[in-house]
Amino acid sequence: MNTWDVVVIGAGQAGSAAAWDLAAGGRRVLMLSRVAGAGKPCAGGVTVKTLNRYRFSIDPVIRETVDTLHVSRYPGPEGQLKSTQRFCVMTERSELDRFCLKQAQRQGAEFQLTKGVAAIRQNGSGVEVHTKEGETIRATYLVAADGANSRVRHLLGESSLKGAMAIEGHIDRADLKAYPGMTLDFQAIKGGYGWLFPKGDHINVGLYIWKHGLAAPDRKALDQYCLDRLGVKPHHVSGFPLGTWLPKVRLKHGRILFVGDAVGATETLLGEGIYGAVLSGQLAAQALLSDQPESYLTLLSGWREELTKVAQLSSLFYGLLPMSIPMLKGALGGTLVEGFSRGYTLGECKRRWRGSVRLA
Ligand SMILES: Cc1cc2nc3c(=O)[nH]c(=O)nc-3n(C[C@H](O)[C@H](O)[C@H](O)COP(=O)(O)OP(=O)(O)OC[C@H]3O[C@@H](n4cnc5c(N)ncnc54)[C@H](O)[C@@H]3O)c2cc1C
Repeated sequence: MNTWDVVVIGAGQAGSAAAWDLAAGGRRVLMLSRVAGAGKPCAGGVTVKTLNRYRFSIDPVIRETVDTLHVSRYPGPEGQLKSTQRFCVMTERSELDRFCLKQAQRQGAEFQLTKGVAAIRQNGSGVEVHTKEGETIRATYLVAADGANSRVRHLLGESSLKGAMAIEGHIDRADLKAYPGMTLDFQAIKGGYGWLFPKGDHINVGLYIWKHGLAAPDRKALDQYCLDRLGVKPHHVSGFPLGTWLPKVRLKHGRILFVGDAVGATETLLGEGIYGAVLSGQLAAQALLSDQPESYLTLLSGWREELTKVAQLSSLFYGLLPMSIPMLKGALGGTLVEGFSRGYTLGECKRRWRGSVRLA
C-alpha cells in the first residue's frame, strides 16, 4: 500500500518549502507533481525576505543580483531607486524550482511524477489521492500546492477565484542594443506595469495587472510594449493567473491545507508570489508537524491581514498613478522598496520612513 504521513501535490515553491520542513521534521512525505518544478511562467525575481526564509542558500541558481530598481510612469522619464544592499536576485524559475525540489529530496521527501489527480477522498483518519494513472495514494494529511488553477480546490467543489494576471516572454541579450537593469514601467498597461528583468544571457519581459476586471495582458500588448521599449519582439511568450485571493478564500478543508497560489498567497501590488508560496508552505508544515492542522489558520492570519492592506494600497496606487509615481521616486519610495524587499509590514514601512534607499 502506498501510504505516507503527508502527500504534497505540486512541486513549485510552495510544495518544496512545505516538503522540506515536513521531511526535516521526520515525516514521510510524497511530492506528487505534473512536472519536476513549476512548469509555469514566472519572472523569477526573489526578494531578500524570501532569501531569508529559505532553509538553504539558492546561490547556485542566482543569475543576477540587483541593487537598483528603475521605475517610470511609462513612457515618461525613468528614476532609479538605489539600495545600499541587494534587494532582489534574479533566477530562472525552472532552475530555481528544480533546485528547491532537490533540496526537499535531500531532506528525505520522495518525488513522483503524475499525469494529474483524478479524485480526492478524505475521512476522519486520512486522505486518499486517486491519480490519473489509476494509483491510490493514502496519507494522514494533504498539502495542496498546485498553483492558481488548483485542481485539488476544484475537486473539492470550490470554484476558481479571479485575481491578478501576467504574461511574460524572453528576449535574447544578443538582440538588445543595451542590457537593461531591473525595470518596472508603471502604466505600460492599465492597472499594472511592464517589467524588464535581466537574466544574464537574456531578459525576461512581461506585463502585469493587479486585479480581475481590467483588460488582461495579451501577446499583442506584450509585443507592442517590447517593440516600443526595446525594438524587439519576445519569444517563449506565455501568460498565467496569479493567486491573489488569500483574504477571501478557505485555507483548509478537513485534512487538506492549501498553500502558495492555491491559497492565493501572492500580494497584489507587484504580484510577488514566491514569498507567499514559501511562507505558506512553511506555515502549513509547522501546523502539521504539531499535528494541529487547524493552527494553520492562526499561523497564516498575519499574512492574510497584510495582503488585505496591500490590496487597499494597490487600489490607491494604481488608481492615482500620476501622484503615486512621483511619491515612489521620492523618499517614501525608497522606504517602500526596501520594506518590500526585506518584508516590513506597511505599518513598519511608515515607521521606518527614513530614506535608506535613495533616488539616484
Ligand atoms: C508571468 C508571471 C511572472 C511572475 N513573476 C514573479 C516574480 O518575478 N517573483 C515572484 O515572487 N512571483 C512571480 N510570479 C508569481 C509566482 O510565479 C507564483 O506566485 C508562484 O509560482 C506560486 O508558487 P506555487 O508553488 O504556489 O505554485 P506554482 O508555481 O504554480 O506550482 C504549482 C505546482 O503544482 C503542479 N500541479 C499543478 N496542477 C497539478 C495537478 N493537477 N496534479 C499534480 N501537480 C500539479 C505544477 O506542476 C507545479 O509543480 C509571477 C507569476 C506570473 C504568472
